[in-house]
Amino acid sequence: MERLYKPHRVIELLNKYGFRFTKSLGQNFLIDGNIVRNIADAAEVSEDDYVLEIGPGIGTLTEELALRAKKVVAVEIDHSLKEILKESLPYENVHIEFADFLKLDLEKLVEEEFGDKPFKVVANLPYYITTPIVEKFVESNLNIDSITIMMQKEVADRFSAQPSTKDYGTLSVFIQFYSDVSYKFSVSKNNFMPKPNVDSAVIKLKFKKDLPQINREKFFKIVKASFSKRRKTILNALSSYGLNIEKSAILKALEISNISPSRRGETLSIEEFIVLSINFPEIKGEDFNRS
Ligand code: SAM
Repeated sequence: MERLYKPHRVIELLNKYGFRFTKSLGQNFLIDGNIVRNIADAAEVSEDDYVLEIGPGIGTLTEELALRAKKVVAVEIDHSLKEILKESLPYENVHIEFADFLKLDLEKLVEEEFGDKPFKVVANLPYYITTPIVEKFVESNLNIDSITIMMQKEVADRFSAQPSTKDYGTLSVFIQFYSDVSYKFSVSKNNFMPKPNVDSAVIKLKFKKDLPQINREKFFKIVKASFSKRRKTILNALSSYGLNIEKSAILKALEISNISPSRRGETLSIEEFIVLSINFPEIKGEDFNRS
């Protein structure tokens, strides 16, 4: 049987089952064998691996994973792909779960399918919910070995950005607080059907084992405030954000942390934000909101 990334095979399957793309579900299917293989290579999937995929579509990436891994579980929201997937993935080591990934009881699915084994997440994500999907993994307590995901290039740039670059912001600090991020490769929009408006990129996340024992709510509040006015100094950004803390106390915390008050927030490394949050006065008031 011909592989699923061949454009004419995709068209044949879609026509046979009268499938219509739903743009709002981020349905852009891969049609390039090299990209599919490169994603599986980046994830380092091999025969003993348990793999979780989000959004198999017609099964293009799933097929590559099934041929390399011990078991693949793929979560797909679109029930109209059911008949296609029955035909396109005749592999015994694949289980498709039809559900909205964001509403799914992930712990239950993982326990049922993988037991307590570590597993790898590999996906060409539906781009409209990239961050919520990653947050769901961050918030879970699951035994995740690594997460290798394709997303909009612009978002991948923010995930992997370093201090003092235009892409470095709250999202970069959030994700890099929890994981080591590596940017793997960029993918042109020409490799998808239908062709999306933007280019993509693949990144790999490895969750850190020993997170610093700090008050995370306070830490992220300080990060958010520090990036709130990118042109201001960190002292002015922090003191005008409504944290209800005297400017002199903020200045003192910056000094103790060895951070010049005239620097801008976007120049601080994650380690510096951590030190600052330890030395910072307690913040009272509204709940932390990361957005
Ligand atoms: N993996 C396929 C490929 O690479 O060709 C398809 C990737 S496509 C970018 C994203 C897939 O995610 C679509 O099949 C879409 O229906 C599915 N999807 C969208 N929202 C979802 C959700 N909330 N939960 C699970 N799957 C979802």
